[in-house]
Order: sequence, then structure tokens, then C-alpha cells
Amino acid sequence: MVTGASSGIGAATARRLAAEGYRVVCAARRRPRLDELADEINGDAVTLDVTSSESVAALVAAVPECSVLVNDAGGALGLDPIATADPDEWQTMFDVNVLGVLRVTQALLPALTASGAGHVIVLGSTAGRVVYEGGAGYTAAKHAVAAVVETLRLELCGQPVRVTEIAPGMVRTEEFSLVRFHGDTQRAEKVYAGVEAPLTADDIADCIAWCATRPPHVNVDLLVVKPLAQAAQHKVHRTT
Ligand code: NDP
Repeated sequence: MVTGASSGIGAATARRLAAEGYRVVCAARRRPRLDELADEINGDAVTLDVTSSESVAALVAAVPECSVLVNDAGGALGLDPIATADPDEWQTMFDVNVLGVLRVTQALLPALTASGAGHVIVLGSTAGRVVYEGGAGYTAAKHAVAAVVETLRLELCGQPVRVTEIAPGMVRTEEFSLVRFHGDTQRAEKVYAGVEAPLTADDIADCIAWCATRPPHVNVDLLVVKPLAQAAQHKVHRTT
């Protein structure tokens, strides 16, 4: 099960896991994209809004068996300082990134446990470890995600379910920055300006597939991955 499979890292992960031999359920809100992807990888498409308990319940009804859950659905909204940040944007970020992980994980845990070798993989971020100006809504949400992942691992100790956080730095996907800046393409482009080789969605899919395909007793707790040009959240080498 891959949430957020309609674009970026989620779509790349669905493709990669299918190539590894998994039957992948692709879930997100934009159904036509999911249908196309599911056709391509011989998987299944399910419409899912992770902010809706009803939608998550319908997902569970459609997916009785599950061994790997990739909680990818998420993203950032805005880059305003706390002084002027929009509480509605924060609410949406928490609902999708944090409560979305809770809803979907909770719903699929029985199936993951029953599989005998379950795996919950969650897309955190370097923003879940380090903060930056203007990013508080997103960094707070991703810090919360990190806390949820660590707690889940403690709570599942003794159960056949691995728990992994993938924490990428700068990944150039088509929509992440565009969504953050409400469709402002110029502002979105500036994020990656002069960075020779930001990570790609395929790079992260590769990390996820590696974690998922370790033997069932090997739990990769946390995988922090940044492009070579990004030594730290604030230190990015740019040629322009
Ligand atoms: P994209 O914007 O390309 O993808 C986000 C995905 O989330 C889309 O498929 C979208 O699908 C889905 N989504 C958003 N809201 C909902 C919702 N309410 N219910 C279900 N699905 C939803 O972003 P990326 O691929 O770049 O990012 C994927 C994940 O990786 C996110 O969690 C992000 O925070 C994290 N990340 C990204 C980094 C980056 O630099 N790009 C860096 C570190 C972490 P739809 O709109 O169809 O529902």
C-alpha cells in the first residue's frame, strides 16, 4: 500500500516496489492518475483522502491483505514566519502529515500484523530533525511524524511489524514546492536554483525499496538522505 501514489515519491515508490515483485495498491485523491499508474504496474488503484476517517475505512475494506504500508501522502503549505502564518494551513499540514499517518497506520495494522512480516514505512523529512525560518508549520508536523514513528516502534516491539522513517532532504519532485507555494512556479523553481543534482523521487524510492527488501528481522529505524550539494538544511551548494 502506497499513499500519495499519484505523484512524486509515492508514484516512484509504487513503480519500484512493483518492479521488486510486490502487488501494489496505489492510493491518493486524484483517481485518474492512480488508474493510469495501476495499469502500468499491474497494481490496484484506490481513492483515498487521508484526512477522512470514512475514506480510510473504505480503503481497509478494499484491501484485506497488506504486508508493506508506505505512508507517503503529505507535504508543506506556505513559508510564512510564525508571526503571520495561517493557522488553517498548519491545520491542513498536521491533518495530512501527522493524523493521516495515524489514520492509515491504525487501519492497516491488523492486516500488517496478520501478514507475519509487516512493515510500516513513513516519509518524514530532514524538516523533522532540523527547523528553518518560515517552515515551522511543516517542521513541527514532520517532528511530530518522527515522534509517532519512534513511539509506534516501541509499541509494536514483539510484533512481526517493522517500523522505518525515511527522512529526505531536498528532493526535486514536480509538485512538492508548487503545492507549498500555491502554484507559483517561479517561487517553486527558486528552491532548486543552481543546485546541480537535487535528489529525485527515484532516489527515495530506491531507499524505500532497500529498507523493505531487507530480511524481516532487519529493521532500518531511520534513513536520512540528502543530495551531495546539501551538507545541512541551511548549507546548500548552488552554482548560481
Ligand atoms: P508531492 O506533492 O509530489 O506528492 C504528495 C502526494 O500526497 C500526492 O500524491 C498527493 O496526492 C498526496 N496527498 C496530499 N494530500 C493528500 C490527502 N489528503 N489524502 C491522500 N493523499 C494526499 O510530494 P513529494 O512526492 O515530493 O513528497 C512526498 C512525501 O515526501 C511527503 O510526505 C513530503 O512531505 C515528503 N518529503 C518530500 C521532500 C521533497 O523535497 N520533495 C523532502 C522530504 C520529505 P493527491 O493530491 O492526488 O491526493
